[in-house]
Parts: sequence; structure tokens; C-alpha cells
Amino acid sequence: MSQLPLPPSFRALGSSDIAVSPIAWGMWRLAENGRSAADAAKLVHAVLDAGINFLDTADIYGFDGTGGFGDAEALLGEVLAAEPALRDRMVLATKGGIAPPLPYDQSPEYLAKAIDASLSRLKVDSVDLWQIHRPDILAHPQEVARTLENAVSAGKIRTIGVSNFTIHQTAALSHFLNVKLVTTQPEISPLRITCFENGELDQAMMLGLTPMAWSPLGGGRLADPQTPEEIAVAAALDGVAQAQGVSRTVAAYSWLMAHPAGIIPIIGSQQAARIAEGVEALKVTWTREDWYAVLVAARGERLP
Ligand code: NAP
Repeated sequence: MSQLPLPPSFRALGSSDIAVSPIAWGMWRLAENGRSAADAAKLVHAVLDAGINFLDTADIYGFDGTGGFGDAEALLGEVLAAEPALRDRMVLATKGGIAPPLPYDQSPEYLAKAIDASLSRLKVDSVDLWQIHRPDILAHPQEVARTLENAVSAGKIRTIGVSNFTIHQTAALSHFLNVKLVTTQPEISPLRITCFENGELDQAMMLGLTPMAWSPLGGGRLADPQTPEEIAVAAALDGVAQAQGVSRTVAAYSWLMAHPAGIIPIIGSQQAARIAEGVEALKVTWTREDWYAVLVAARGERLP
């Protein structure tokens, strides 16, 4: 049976001229367990040395329900201040728009301040990608578009992306933007397959958005499957993993990367060895038969 194409060694971020590795690293958990700036720097080096140049954070990472807002960005900011040359080696992405104690805020006043605050915590002049973390249904997309365009014109953010948007929310923002959206970041994993069938990935291909998959291992559940669904999906991944001499988690990343939309899985591990191992996903090949076997296990029922 013929193989699906392997991912390229670099992808363009949407329609931009920014080249990113086909796998990213996420810093949701970076500020956990009192990690020091020295240890965070070691992780950043491990990521870059593994060939991953696409780093994803958010202003809310580190927030534990009461405090810690901004902590993950601030920790990365310390790393960058100590070694400014690292900035040139990475495509830096962050997000904003979730504003505790309110759920979401994308008013012009809030967004403009949130972008400035992120830059100041990260100790950088600009980020390469700024994403709306979750949609604020009380913000008019035309107004959001103007605010973000102003940030692009001011040189604070190079490109714009969305996360957790519905298809219609993405279409509405895209309609009002005079610059092109470049990314969308939904939850996608072999345990969360809604995107494959609800049109989100088809829209990404139509609009030229690079999809970034958050929680590509289902938040780690694929490494330790418990429910019958998780066990069935793990078994389908294990078949390919064992045949190609890689771990199940690597097979999971590569399964996402085999999709024609060019999905970029965001590795969530904060362990250097696991992050480096993730890059093995670039060489795992899939047949249609094996790929659909994972999908069928995730669906829990045969294809029609
Ligand atoms: P994930 O890769 O699904 O899960 C990572 C978790 O699994 C870590 O706690 C990791 O622990 C654990 N794990 C256990 N065994 C592992 C193994 N063999 N290999 C790798 N990890 C293993 O991803 P995630 O952390 O949930 O999310 C990834 C990124 O997506 C985040 O960092 C963030 O950038 C993004 N995200 C975005 C949103 C959004 O709303 N846009 C939401 C959630 C996440 P260790 O660290 O100990 O390895």
C-alpha cells in the first residue's frame, strides 16, 4: 500500500515567509514546580538543539486559578534576557485574550495592553505570532481585527492566529482583517478527532492557515491509556510504532502530521529527552490503512 507523504523539514507559517519546524514546543507547564531560569534555559536549548524552532506560550500560562498569570512568559523572558541570541533562533508565539477574573476580553483597550504586557514580560520587541487564546463573544470581530492590525503596523506582532475558534468565528475575523490570519490552534489528537470531520481543518486549508495541535497526546493520556477508547487508540498506534521502532507518543505526533493540512503538533512535555525524541516523528510513515485504523479506534465505530 502506498505511503502518505512525510512532513517537510520546515513549513511556512500560513502565507507568511516565516519558516517553522513541523513540530512545535509548548510552554503551558514551563513555570510549574518552581522551575528556575537556569533549568528553563536548559530546556529551551534542548528544544532548539533538537531542531524545533517554533515555541508556543501564552500570557495565562502559569495561572493556577488565583495567581501566576504571566509566569511562563516571564520565565522565558528571563532566559532571553540572559542569552539574547536565543531570540534569533526561535519563532516565538504567544496568546492573550483570557483575562481572569473575567473569562475573555478582546476589547481594543484590553488587547492593546495585553500585547504590550506580553512583550514586556518576554523582554522582546516583538513576537512572531500572536494568537487570540479563546474567542470573546462580546467583541465585534471588526474591532478585534483593527486592534490586531494596529499591533502588526506598530511592529509588535508579525502575524496573527486564533485558538479554540469555531469555523464561523475564524471566518468572521478573517473577513474583517486586511492581513491574512496564519494559524489556528484547536485541540487535536488521536483522542480528540472532531477537527477531522467538523470542517475546521478544511477551512484551514481553504484559508491557508497552519493548524497547531494542542494537547497532541490528550494531555498525556495516550502515554497511560485507561478507558476502553484510550486503550483501543493506543493499540492502533502501537502497531505502527513497533513496526517502525518508535514510541507510541512519537507515532501519535506523526499521525497528526500525516494530515494534508500540515498539522503542527505542540509537544507539551517539559522533559528534554522526551522533547528530543518527538522529532523522530518526522520519519514515521503512514499508509491510508494504518491511518484510518487509528481514526476508527478513536471513533469507536467502523466507517460508514
Ligand atoms: P500533551 O503532549 O498532550 O501532554 C503533555 C503531558 O503529557 C505532559 O504533562 C507530559 O509530562 C505528559 N507525558 C507523559 N508521558 C509522556 C511522554 N511519553 N511523552 C511526552 N509527554 C508525556 O500536551 P499538553 O501539555 O496538554 O499541551 C501541549 C501544548 O499545547 C501546551 O504547552 C500549550 O502550548 C498548548 N495548549 C494550548 C491550549 C489552547 O487553548 N490553545 C490548551 C492547552 C495546551 P512531562 O512533562 O513529565 O513529560
